[in-house]
Amino acid sequence: MNRQRIYFDWNATAPLCEPARLAMVDALALPGNPSSVHAEGRAARAVVEAARRDVATLVGASPASVIFTSSATEAANLVLTPHFRMGRAPLFVGRLYVSAIEHPAIREGGRFPADRVTEIPVLRSGVVDLEALERLLAELDPQDGMALVAIMLVNNETGIVQPVEAAAKIVRARGGLLVVDAVQAAGRLPLDIERLGADFLILSAHKIAGPKGAAALVSRGETLMPAPLIRGGGQEKGHRAGTENVAAIAGFGAAAAFMTAGLDTRNAAIGTLRNRLEKGMREAAPDVVIYGHDVTRVVNTSFFTLPGLKAETGQIAFDLEGLSLSAGAACSSGKVGASHVLTAMGEDAKTGGLRMSLGPSTTGEEVDLAIGIFARIAARRKLSGKAA
Ligand code: PLP
Repeated sequence: MNRQRIYFDWNATAPLCEPARLAMVDALALPGNPSSVHAEGRAARAVVEAARRDVATLVGASPASVIFTSSATEAANLVLTPHFRMGRAPLFVGRLYVSAIEHPAIREGGRFPADRVTEIPVLRSGVVDLEALERLLAELDPQDGMALVAIMLVNNETGIVQPVEAAAKIVRARGGLLVVDAVQAAGRLPLDIERLGADFLILSAHKIAGPKGAAALVSRGETLMPAPLIRGGGQEKGHRAGTENVAAIAGFGAAAAFMTAGLDTRNAAIGTLRNRLEKGMREAAPDVVIYGHDVTRVVNTSFFTLPGLKAETGQIAFDLEGLSLSAGAACSSGKVGASHVLTAMGEDAKTGGLRMSLGPSTTGEEVDLAIGIFARIAARRKLSGKAA
């Protein structure tokens, strides 16, 4: 990466860590197909299975419960389906409930028709409204099948930690299933699928300093499984067909092992830098609104609005100054729209929010430079009453 630039967009994607790069380079040299029984095949299989163990360890699951996919989006489309099997018996899910702040990968509802998806509101604080969840589940007619609830553990825009353990109790009491998008939580919070009470967790390699294009659906046991999304050669025990991307999976495993180690030390360092950044921002522009500072947030994220500065304009201004950040979530097209997260929080979201997200290699020097850039941009904005 160009040393002059400041990369504060780790929630969009994290730069590949060295152990992941090395594991990928080694795996690329393997000629075999992991499904082949000969020596070359077995060598590739060994790499995939070692990665499966490392990914399982990151979330306190059994390796047998990890299904590799190409993206968290694919994992979401696999698990968000009305059709499950409990052992050999079919199990029908009648309705999907998704929180209003989910990533589009979840909000789109996977394989559910739109009229069978219900939104769970969030409170002004940016935290999912558990009373509303309770009410909504109580309204479901058991004749219509069971409930599947999807609540993310950490929101990608605000970094706010969601009350997943409490939600799990509510869902369980109603006999429903819980899917937790842990994409932004992995590597930032200690994770244990049992303790969370989730039936399924979704992970993505590129958010934990692994490669883009590898991810996983992790289940709590192996009895309850969704109908496959991709059928074919029976890989991943029939849950996801297609020859495994061995190199990407190797990188995913190495990144998971890298993130499992030293979590507290890493968080302490990143948290100190994020707090220094926010203090500097507040001093430079006392009217800056930083979201989620009064609830539990992951330590690396700062999501803010500056009165008079449109997120779109701000993003370009920061980029020109050498600082990469996001305006809300990074969309495939790079388009910047009103933030659905701010809207869900009841904020006037027209100008959109800006997100700085730090990572393990962020330095104090970068933070100080970022504060200077922020101060210059804040001083330049037009405060005419209308957004600039
Ligand atoms: N869920 C969350 C919370 C995310 O932040 C993202 C990526 O931005 C995704 C899901 C989608 O991940 P992937 O890029 O692996 O499809």
